[in-house]
Amino acid sequence: MNQILRTEAAKGIFVNNRWQPSLSGRTIPMIAPADGQAFAAIAAGNAGDIELAVAAARAALETGSWGRLTATERGRLLLRLSRLVDDHAEELALLEARDTGKPMKQARADIVAVSRYFEYYGGAADKVHGDTIPFLDGFLVNTLYEPLGVTAHIIPWNYPGQMFGRTVAPALAMGNATVIKPAEEACLVPLRLAELAAEAGFPEGAVNVVPGLGEEAGAALANHRGIDFISFTGSPEVGTLVQIAAAKNHIGCTLELGGKSPQIIFGDADLTAAVQSVAAAVVQNAGQTCSAGSRVLVERRIWDRFMADLKLRFEQIRAGTPEMDLDLGPVISAGQRSRIGAMLQRAEEAGARILAQGQIATNSPAEGFYVRPTVYHEVNPASELAQREVFGPILAAMPFDSEEEAIRLANGTEYGLVAGVWSGDGSRAIRVARKVRAGQLFVNGYGAGGGIELPFGGMKKSGHGREKGFEALYEFGALKTLVVKHG
Ligand code: NAD
Repeated sequence: MNQILRTEAAKGIFVNNRWQPSLSGRTIPMIAPADGQAFAAIAAGNAGDIELAVAAARAALETGSWGRLTATERGRLLLRLSRLVDDHAEELALLEARDTGKPMKQARADIVAVSRYFEYYGGAADKVHGDTIPFLDGFLVNTLYEPLGVTAHIIPWNYPGQMFGRTVAPALAMGNATVIKPAEEACLVPLRLAELAAEAGFPEGAVNVVPGLGEEAGAALANHRGIDFISFTGSPEVGTLVQIAAAKNHIGCTLELGGKSPQIIFGDADLTAAVQSVAAAVVQNAGQTCSAGSRVLVERRIWDRFMADLKLRFEQIRAGTPEMDLDLGPVISAGQRSRIGAMLQRAEEAGARILAQGQIATNSPAEGFYVRPTVYHEVNPASELAQREVFGPILAAMPFDSEEEAIRLANGTEYGLVAGVWSGDGSRAIRVARKVRAGQLFVNGYGAGGGIELPFGGMKKSGHGREKGFEALYEFGALKTLVVKHG
């Protein structure tokens, strides 16, 4: 497998449905998080490569066949790609697991979601309707959606395949031509998906992927004057740079910048189900999920019992290689592991105490980037651990005494992406959910397991714009108002 990846992955950039050498002539080694070993290399795309990709996308719209397809024809191409993803599901899952270190069951579920994105948006492509608007006597007014043009997609390493599906599928459904800059830490599945898109019959220039470093290829793409929209998922710091670049070129962007998502547990909840969900929500993908449930707020009257149950659950959790297929894998890189370690050291110095820890399987390679899943309690709500995204399998637990305090704590960070409310009192659960500032709220559950149909996105520092569901299609469409005076 190593040899195959080495020869397949360093082919360069994928533009106009074919591999081309990067103009940079440089490559970036791909390190497997499970064992810390380089197993492949990708091209280090540069500004010249981005230039080629944007030009290819523009040509696809203006002179190529892509811009002339009907919505139905576009939808059929997306559906064909969905089927090709299904046909290559195991190959893609192995690639994703190798690249990110995630357990095989998670990688397989991710590829199912990739296929589902193309299926969902393939079916939706010709169902985006405008309106007829009542206006003055003698006028007919219609709204219609057109492609924005060339859309830029800068995606992260935590779910390379899913993120490709989430952002690229709705953009293509709406008729845009895409340029994708996947993350340098993990991007083999996005590159393979571009090849499969060509095989599915997407015309030249509709899907272009330029791998490379963020500050080089990413910055060149975000600042390119030839793009019409940017879809970005990643850190708030880079999100700020992307938004500045978009502002300079007077184009729109969606930003998905993570969260510090809380689960609120009231004493009358189904505590057995809540414990399972709280543990799963922070351990999934080793906590490297924008919507990770990284805070748990527990009503004080059940605090001791809940924390005792959570401790038992956490102590069963085990990390290991993709092949071991345990609860979680390693984090993405040595850099992320030491960033997490430094944050936890500061948390402990600030008084946070470890309640429980999971295990790293003893036969996991010593050079892998494993982090023990950990629950901290007595976490000061104002501290860094309660406020900042760890992006690791680390849970901060805090008690509350009243509904008002629970809402205040839930809303007490700069983020607002997802929240969960657990209560046997339906009125209270809905009342609290409606007062929490987050883009997605779950009652007596948490997370949507892909949730392709469900609009998703942030409030506050978590970002803006909506992905998934029909909302994503509107983000990728330019609304025109057509006014006809017929007398
Ligand atoms: P990042 O924001 O640096 O990277 C995300 C994407 O942006 C990558 O494709 C990267 O190459 C690109 N990028 C980097 N610098 C750029 C620039 N100057 N211009 C344009 N594009 C650029 O994220 P990271 O360093 O990989 O992770 C840091 C932290 O960000 C994590 O610890 C986590 O807290 C957060 N994060 C969040 C998500 C999420 O899903 N919301 C995903 C990844 C990381």
